[in-house]
Amino acid sequence: MDKTVRTRFAPSPTGFMHIGNLRTGLYAYLFARHNGGKFILRIEDTDRERMVEGAEEMVYRTLAAAGIEYDEGPDRDGGCGPYIQSERAGIYREYAEKLVELGGAYYCFCTKERLEGLHGENGTHTYDRHCRGLSAAEARARIAAGEPYVIRQKVPDGIVSSYTDMVFGEISVSSDDIEDGVLLKSDGMPTYNFANVVDDHLMGITHVIRGTEYLSSTPKYNLIYDAFGWERPQYMHLPPIMKDAARKLSKRYGDANFEDFIAKGYLPQAVVNYVALLGWCPKNNAEKMTMAEMIDAFGVDGISVSSSIFDEAKMRWLNGEYLKAMSEEEFFAAAKPWIERSKAGGKFDEREIARLMQTRVDVLGEIPDKIDFLDEFGPYDLSMYEHKKMKVDIEVAKKAVEVSIGAIERVAEWTEDGIKQAVAAAAEEAGMKGGQVMFSMRVALTGQPSTPGGAIEMAAVLGREESMRRLRFSAKLLKEHTAAE
Ligand code: GLU
Repeated sequence: MDKTVRTRFAPSPTGFMHIGNLRTGLYAYLFARHNGGKFILRIEDTDRERMVEGAEEMVYRTLAAAGIEYDEGPDRDGGCGPYIQSERAGIYREYAEKLVELGGAYYCFCTKERLEGLHGENGTHTYDRHCRGLSAAEARARIAAGEPYVIRQKVPDGIVSSYTDMVFGEISVSSDDIEDGVLLKSDGMPTYNFANVVDDHLMGITHVIRGTEYLSSTPKYNLIYDAFGWERPQYMHLPPIMKDAARKLSKRYGDANFEDFIAKGYLPQAVVNYVALLGWCPKNNAEKMTMAEMIDAFGVDGISVSSSIFDEAKMRWLNGEYLKAMSEEEFFAAAKPWIERSKAGGKFDEREIARLMQTRVDVLGEIPDKIDFLDEFGPYDLSMYEHKKMKVDIEVAKKAVEVSIGAIERVAEWTEDGIKQAVAAAAEEAGMKGGQVMFSMRVALTGQPSTPGGAIEMAAVLGREESMRRLRFSAKLLKEHTAAE
């Protein structure tokens, strides 16, 4: 590529950032970085009625969390600003008027009532080009008289507008099927159709990367480039992301919001990694990739033309891989807030809990449910001690719990290793199998049929005092049970 590549992400602040928006931004970023180019953020807020409070801030937050860095944007001037469309009203007016002079657009004074009365053959309201023939002098006079007007695109007659999309190949539309659409509204604001062209040109965008919903209107935008005499950019349209075989993921229905996933305990980098794979596959078929690896591998040849299905189970799996790959220290830092919000928070050894959880959860949000039980200790069903294969019954358990009490009293250094050695030694002395003691001890410490981790890990998490208290409590339960029989 001879020119510096410039791509842009142009979200509209009309709701949260769903996975589809994020993917568009990510691909534009990866493409720019892969080609040593620049990535620009532009806020498309001309549709004032659909604006949602706080949505613009969410764009910045999401990009920052996702590690997608833009070179130019509302808060990073690169000489092509402003980067917020509502601040560019004067620019659109200037260019719309210029386009009228160049013969690519015209003033239209049709009233709402007239437009509503236009009924096409199949119930459509295609504009009938009523004002297309007005002379410049007449238009000027009516504007001077204060008549409201819009500026419309003057679509050439009888030509075919074609381009080659980098993903979908050749796309052609007959100009006879293109309406003379509004470019500048009566309130002076541009339509998306006009603003995207003016901005992409003035911001020097070389590659326009966006969703397929714009694939077939792009020939119409290209006619605007042509009328200005501007060079058209290249286009890369991206197939939709589906919720299932029939439905698209949608912002309107609250599907798949990036920040919701983070709040559920997904790691931003895992979500971004997963999102990258929705419609793109690197040549080496890698799945777990860092941002640098994605930048390195990204290319249009790996982009699929068919839609992809958002599979949360797959994303969970990938997130789990990220968690397992963390150092103990990193995982502890990530898990700590989740441990703290569980019932066990602040009561037991949090480092031990984190160690236990690292290989046992795919998403950090699973932690509280998995450890709440630590805090819920009380009378429990003694039949849990019956285990045929282990050769444990209530009588054996009674002895085993006594043996563990003796062992715990003797642990020199309170670490998993220290506890393990003491329990193993005590079992041997008592002539019991290690497995019998461990199994009984685990039940006695937790009162649970199954736990993440065995007796030694549970004791390490609970701490010496609490372990002792629970073992004594269990010993008493077992004793009372035998006495009652
Ligand atoms: N504001 C448009 C959207 O959010 C951007 C389309 C484009 O990238 O041109 O759909």
